[in-house]
Amino acid sequence: MNLSPTVPPWIDKLRWTHCFASLGPAFYSEILPQGLPEPHWIAHSPQVARLLGWPLDWWSDHTALEAFSGQALWPSMRPLASVYSGHQFGVWAGQLGDGRALWLGELDTPSGQMELQLKGSGRTPYSRRGDGRAVWRSSIREFLGSEALAGLGIPSTRALCVTGSRLAVQRETLEPAAVVTRVSPSFIRFGHFEHFADAGQHQELQSLADFVIRNYCPGCALEASPYAALLQWVAEQTAELMASWQAVGFCHGVMNTDNMSILGLTLDYGPFGFLDTYHPEHICNHSDHQGRYAYDQQPSIAYWNLYALGQALMPLIQNTDTALAALETYQSHYPRAWAQRLRAKLGLQTALPQDIELAQKLLQLMAHNRVDFTIFFRRLCHFDAAPQARNESIRGLFMDPTGFDRWAQDYQARLSLEPGGASPDQDCARMLRMRQSNPWVVLRNHLAQTAIEAAQEGDFSEIERLLTVIFQPFDEAVPNLDPHHLARYAGFPPDWAAQLELSCSS
Ligand code: AMP
Ligand code: MG
Repeated sequence: MNLSPTVPPWIDKLRWTHCFASLGPAFYSEILPQGLPEPHWIAHSPQVARLLGWPLDWWSDHTALEAFSGQALWPSMRPLASVYSGHQFGVWAGQLGDGRALWLGELDTPSGQMELQLKGSGRTPYSRRGDGRAVWRSSIREFLGSEALAGLGIPSTRALCVTGSRLAVQRETLEPAAVVTRVSPSFIRFGHFEHFADAGQHQELQSLADFVIRNYCPGCALEASPYAALLQWVAEQTAELMASWQAVGFCHGVMNTDNMSILGLTLDYGPFGFLDTYHPEHICNHSDHQGRYAYDQQPSIAYWNLYALGQALMPLIQNTDTALAALETYQSHYPRAWAQRLRAKLGLQTALPQDIELAQKLLQLMAHNRVDFTIFFRRLCHFDAAPQARNESIRGLFMDPTGFDRWAQDYQARLSLEPGGASPDQDCARMLRMRQSNPWVVLRNHLAQTAIEAAQEGDFSEIERLLTVIFQPFDEAVPNLDPHHLARYAGFPPDWAAQLELSCSS
């Protein structure tokens, strides 16, 4: 491995720090990446380059391709794999860890301190039976998924780029290998805390908690019980994240405690998906036979996971009542955060007690009628609140349009209670507001799949186009997008989309 190739001055000037590594060797193993042979670019995100403050042509330097395919290190990168544990599908799984991810170090960027991580760069001491690799399919999905959530304004780890090669790795069939580079203020998981609690390493547990407080929620240090304050802070971030997921129909698919970010970011994109038709019990992970991680289970699973985090923090919090009180904030925060998102989706500026029932009735109707989640809410932005209005394009989405008509009457009545009442002017203002909460496009599985298949045929342009589109999900006026593509992104999924099957690690 070429440890420090000659690099252009801007790369040489990057000041990599290793704060996480300063926690000490109990937290990680230092290990060099095993690069992809004959790598090439698959995709890169200009938005993430901007976030890092890098030149937009950063990727054109050959040492960049080497560094982000795991072939060489830029000066001062110091790769390591961290150790964590976790509960998988509700069962204690013991020690896990970065089986195919390597932390490269942190950079001070215009967006704050950012950690960079390779995923798919070979085996680590935590790989267990895995090969340490990632395939094109899962890496492109992680890349597009991260950027889609970021585009929707939902907290997420980010993806800088994907590199690929012809190296074949065994999955259900042989598939080509890839490396995705992730960027995040932190990759610390609930499972990191569970690891040291389970091992009885309370000194390390405390160092980790102090590290998180110092770097990400310094206000907690000022509280009477800083570690309970930390738990409460994580509960609040997680509640906001769950409400954001539910509001766009995002299903994570593998909400194991080792995939839960301590910062409340969407983390570890595997068999994730967005709802096509609204089916609350939708299971996006083909290996999730019990539906533990079904769409409608996500908020309560998050609480289950927070409970596991709370247990891990008990040696520091010590008092059970204090810990339970911190956890309870989730139970009040989540419904509030969810109600806030629902009101925004319905275009309501005021909060009235009947709003939740109005929203619940709508969701029930949508479920019975198998209505497309994204298309419905986008069309609802253009709801005409005049008493005689038929709202044909919306009611036509329902198998039983008269059910929608009855709900629409209640909605009209509710809109008349908004400041300014119901009027064409109000309709227009509401439409503009609602379009900021109801995306015209989400990264449906079939859209990702089409981009992956084109890439496998050597055409990376669909990934690039899709990246541009998912980055402006609230405005259809995407520059240079022809009507055919626009219709495909905004439209109903094709029949074959229902046959797509996604399961855990690939
Ligand atoms: P996941 O289901 O992707 O969250 O993975 C669970 C655990 O398995 C994590 O510790 C991963 O690092 C590890 N893992 C998943 N896939 C691989 C692989 N191909 N090689 C090595 N470790 C892996
Ligand atoms: Mg994981």
